[in-house]
Amino acid sequence: MKTNLKNLTLEELKQFCAGEGLQSYRSQQIFRWIWKKDKNRFLDITTLSKKDREVLEEKAELPQLEIIKILKSRDRTKKFLFRLTDGETMESVYIPTKKRKTVCVSTQVGCTLNCSFCMTGRTGYIRNLSSWEIVDQVRRVESIIDERISNIVLMGMGEPLLNYENVLKAIKIINSELGMNIGARKITISTAGIVPGILKLAKEPLQIKLAISLNAATDAKREKLMPINKKYNLRKLFDALDDYYSIKRKRITFEYVLIKGFNDSLIDAKNLAEITEDIPCKINIIPFNSIKNSKFKRPSPIIVKKFIDYLYPIAQAVTLRESRGSDIEGACGQLRARR
Ligand code: SF4
Repeated sequence: MKTNLKNLTLEELKQFCAGEGLQSYRSQQIFRWIWKKDKNRFLDITTLSKKDREVLEEKAELPQLEIIKILKSRDRTKKFLFRLTDGETMESVYIPTKKRKTVCVSTQVGCTLNCSFCMTGRTGYIRNLSSWEIVDQVRRVESIIDERISNIVLMGMGEPLLNYENVLKAIKIINSELGMNIGARKITISTAGIVPGILKLAKEPLQIKLAISLNAATDAKREKLMPINKKYNLRKLFDALDDYYSIKRKRITFEYVLIKGFNDSLIDAKNLAEITEDIPCKINIIPFNSIKNSKFKRPSPIIVKKFIDYLYPIAQAVTLRESRGSDIEGACGQLRARR
């Protein structure tokens, strides 16, 4: 079986080259041409000698994700549907603003966590993505938009901390100077609250950002939205976040999807301010992006404003995330589910 070189860190590529009799400096060259120059054929890595190229053709491969659909929103958001080499599909979203060009990438095909407001959760879990399948989403999006991506959020399909090793490897490739060279501070992992993963992440020597998909400030409400709360309740989650902050000293972002009549009252806002008051953080309010056949609805702009106006003076920092790509099924998992 051929070795997929896109699945290797620079260190692993060095070992591969040594094993195949290629000189050590070749590993840096190959890594650079794959991830910086986006070359997916050994033929296109023109600095290789004929002999080295022949070895690589025989022993290695450079697969690519196949883009099977691109939906373009009026607000310039683009949604990509990819086919993987085993025929499975998954999505990424490109979100441009004046200051940033962000890609929201997936980390699993489907998801085990079954959050009741999420289309991906409804479609079940198939498998983890390998590291190259995570990084190549960014590469393929860049190749279409023809602009450099500035920020990455691991917030698409799947729970990143349940695919820990592959996610960390992907981040190292994205962050590497010889690779995509995107600063760790521009990379955000968003988790539903996998406590062991948060504690493990705290020990990694990486300055990436952490976001928590919170969505409710009491266990009773959160369990209704996110079954994972039964395993890691709010107490356990906030204890882990205290530990995380004591090591990293980096502000945490809480995402709060605002759902009509469920978590959008002033009491909910008060509970949210209280539960987050002891940890340096920012709260990101995201009005629910409606999905088909969902019992949940989007609150009216008046309710959103009331919630934020009440929360703003009593919480540390509050932002409203405008909904992007709602005309192209911008919510996670919608496009794949439709297929
Ligand atoms: S919201 Fe995230 S963690 Fe929850 S089911 Fe969807 S993809 Fe999984």
